[in-house]
Amino acid sequence: MSESDEMRAARIRELMETEGDAVADGTRGFNAGRYESVADLDEYEELKDGARAIKEDAIGRLPELLDRLEAAVEGNGGTVYLAEDAADANRYVREVVAGKDADRVVKSKSMTTEELEVNEALEADGVEVVETDLGEWVLQVADEAPSHIVAPAIHKSREGIAELFNERFDPEEPLETAEELTRFARERLGELIEGADVGMTGANFVTADSGTVALVTSEGNARKCAVVPDTHVAVAGVEKVIPSVEDLRPFVELIGRSGTGQDITSYVSFLTPPVASPAVDFDDPDAPMADGAIGGDGAGDDPDREFHLVLVDNGRLAMREDEDLRETLYCIRCGACANSCGNFQSVGGHAFGGETYSGGIATGWEAGVEGLDAAAEFNDLCTGCSRCVPACPVKIDVPWINTVVRDRVNRTDGAGEFDFLVDGLTPDEEPGGLDRTKRLFGNFETLAAWGSRTAPLSNWVADSAPARWAMDRWLGVAPERDLPEFERETLVDWFAARGSRVTADDARREAVLYPDVYTNHVAVDRGKAAVRTLEALDVRVSVPASAAVGSGRAPLSQGMVSTARRQAERCRDALVPELERGRDVVVVEPSDLAAIRREYEKLLPEGDHERLAAGSYEVLEYVYGLLESGADGSALGDGDDEGGAVNYHAHCQQRTLGLEGYTVAVLERLGHEVTTSDTECCGMAGSFGYKSAYYELSMDVGEPLAEQFGDDDRTALASGTSCCEQLGALLGRPGTHPVELLDPDSPDQ
Ligand code: SF4
Repeated sequence: MSESDEMRAARIRELMETEGDAVADGTRGFNAGRYESVADLDEYEELKDGARAIKEDAIGRLPELLDRLEAAVEGNGGTVYLAEDAADANRYVREVVAGKDADRVVKSKSMTTEELEVNEALEADGVEVVETDLGEWVLQVADEAPSHIVAPAIHKSREGIAELFNERFDPEEPLETAEELTRFARERLGELIEGADVGMTGANFVTADSGTVALVTSEGNARKCAVVPDTHVAVAGVEKVIPSVEDLRPFVELIGRSGTGQDITSYVSFLTPPVASPAVDFDDPDAPMADGAIGGDGAGDDPDREFHLVLVDNGRLAMREDEDLRETLYCIRCGACANSCGNFQSVGGHAFGGETYSGGIATGWEAGVEGLDAAAEFNDLCTGCSRCVPACPVKIDVPWINTVVRDRVNRTDGAGEFDFLVDGLTPDEEPGGLDRTKRLFGNFETLAAWGSRTAPLSNWVADSAPARWAMDRWLGVAPERDLPEFERETLVDWFAARGSRVTADDARREAVLYPDVYTNHVAVDRGKAAVRTLEALDVRVSVPASAAVGSGRAPLSQGMVSTARRQAERCRDALVPELERGRDVVVVEPSDLAAIRREYEKLLPEGDHERLAAGSYEVLEYVYGLLESGADGSALGDGDDEGGAVNYHAHCQQRTLGLEGYTVAVLERLGHEVTTSDTECCGMAGSFGYKSAYYELSMDVGEPLAEQFGDDDRTALASGTSCCEQLGALLGRPGTHPVELLDPDSPDQ
């Protein structure tokens, strides 16, 4: 391992040991809650579409909405300040606080104020700043940074918080339970809010029509900060503006369910400040509120009330002009992308985050507000598995944002001293100096072609001790991983010699089996099994040599977008003519199908993408369709008998595409009792687990899968190449592709 890889691995290891268990408990709990909560919501997809449309519209006409918002807030008696950057925003906030002669500011949780580092700015002026969200307060006491955008102290255990409080506050009775800790914090914070001079909040949404600030919290502390002190300062990124109060509905329905799995968040406050009520007089708590104040019509009810809305640009208006980063601005900061991410579940935001933001979408935020260097630090932890895509309530393509940022980061790196080691394997379109590990895995197609041509020598050489040492040291390939073994006879060669076994007259359908790089050169047996399975269902199959090209998935995972685009074009040139001949395209490897169905939208002209997406099928999806339309499944393996119990792990991208159910249905139809995996991800995700720096993390992510599947000796099935490899490493017995179970004939044919 290189020195930098060693440092990265050590940091990840340390976080897995110190924070991993607490993060895993919290995020997996939230994630499971999300599944349950959205399952009860009939209109879930419609709400997501609605939320997305509102954000697209709002960001599209942001300048106009900002003008309307300013007029509305000023009409209500408040002030709006549009801050260019963090320094500008902090200067304004400091002036407001100084103008009130404030000694103490109480704050509710706000990632935007974290981004600005407003606490530090105020503290430099001698102002006491108190975080009133329980998690934020814990971190303030512990002097730590948040590790999750919704649950900032998710990395801390109850025991750790009890130890911290007992040591710091020395209570009469030691605090222990969650109830004791919460009560203690509430009492302390209540007193601090009571005596505060200025209250500061963020804003989940701000409506341009009325100047209404929507605050969604679990503890109700935000509304106290907003209304107890006379002066309220709300700080929000400009992207928080939506057109009208009516537009709040889908977001209120979705935000709690997506983030923490709550059907509705405990406190949802809509304030149109300056609020009409006067500040509470804590010295005379029984005194009635001023006559007619509640429900009054504005600041006139209490002239001491002051409201300042600080809208922060800090890079956001430039993101709006950036075709790829623009979507980041649709984010409503629910945290679902972090909770659903296998890597995040293991390491949390202290590894998977930048200066402020953490989790899947953090790369976009950090690249936009802090710059590429901040984003680069953790961008590689996104494996592109895409599990966050269906979790996101505004349908942001988080993996694509990460891919684009990775591509930009790649282009800023300088040339390295050992580039010659991979130069021969780099027929790509990337700039010199691209990270060698990325270049190696991004060019797997070339490597595989060379490996097959020279097998078995290539396998022997690659697995020799000196080669493994060199690969670890200079190419960042984990020595613990078994390397793929290349087959001398590729799937294309095998099929060319064998030919089709179904005549055109007997054919139910005609299909091209796409010889993806791995199936063609390494997992040739599963390719043969796929051919025989389709033929058993009367499909006339072909495996054309012209289609033996990479889909672009490998370079895409490394952020090599130009190379991926070129490969996608080659793939299109090979497959579209087959579709035009009336053939279906059947794909064995789910990540290649995901490239065709999802990512080609970004890489190819719209018509080509649509044509390929509509005509391509995952192999078990295709088998399901054949059986449903009357094909006789009795010729399939286990088709006649009860097939027995199996464990099945669907590939991440296959699940994102909604294809898991087809495999389960086919297996059950053939008599198998199927247990499906509970995990979001096996942890391997293509090349990720091969990388020395991430090997331990990959295994840690896979641990729950090993716990679920390792307890019995059932056949472990997995649809993805990398999932099969990970199952082999986790269980000590290889994973099998489901199509191999369906294979009707002996592999010797
Ligand atoms: S990207 Fe989507 S899932 Fe992630 S925090 Fe933003 S809104 Fe939530």
